[in-house]
Amino acid sequence: MRPVMLLARLNEIDLVVDAHKARLLEIADALREPAALVAARRAVAEAEAESARCRAAQEQLEAVQRDAADKLSRAEKRLYGGLVKNPRELEDAQRDVQQLRHQNTAVDDKLLEALVAVEAAHQALAQRQARLAQIVAEWGAKQGALRGEQARLTALLPGELSQQAARRAAVPASFLALYDNLRPRRGGRAVAELDGDDCSACRVAVPPTRLEEALYGEDLVYCGNCGRLLWGE
Ligand SMILES: [Zn+2]
Repeated sequence: MRPVMLLARLNEIDLVVDAHKARLLEIADALREPAALVAARRAVAEAEAESARCRAAQEQLEAVQRDAADKLSRAEKRLYGGLVKNPRELEDAQRDVQQLRHQNTAVDDKLLEALVAVEAAHQALAQRQARLAQIVAEWGAKQGALRGEQARLTALLPGELSQQAARRAAVPASFLALYDNLRPRRGGRAVAELDGDDCSACRVAVPPTRLEEALYGEDLVYCGNCGRLLWGE
């Protein structure tokens, strides 16, 4: 086989390996948990803490309310039970009942506010949980597709690498050095096939004398425009 053909075959597999390795890196990067998911999970944790705080405040106020109701009930019994006869004591008992009624109303108001806060916290939590569930589902679907592609490419790579090694081994060392020097400076493609009279990489026409050599000669022929090795058959 002409040296340029050996290089063309090597370049072909090199490009495949390059592309697959690059894609595997991209996939590994894309498989990292997205920032939106991390943020949504944190938002749920915060809403859960807020919800728990509101419920604890409600329970505390309910205990206060029970206590205040007890006190009022005892004071009312004393006032209306007929045991207090002394007008002075009666007046005191009346004042106690009035004061305790005020306290009860104040506690009821606070408890109402607390219940509103509990409801609001509960709604905020439900919203954030729904948002998290949506992101998790989207991420799961995307991840599934990426993992499938990752598995497929990972399975292909060993065969491609051994093909690459075999094709490299088939190229004489001097040509290989030249190729390895040229390829990184030509975006990975060191060898370009002729497309009619044109270089397929840069679409510039090749002069007839070079064309002949590129098609049938043993010497390497470079594209006058892009500097790649030309081959054709
Ligand atoms: Zn060219």
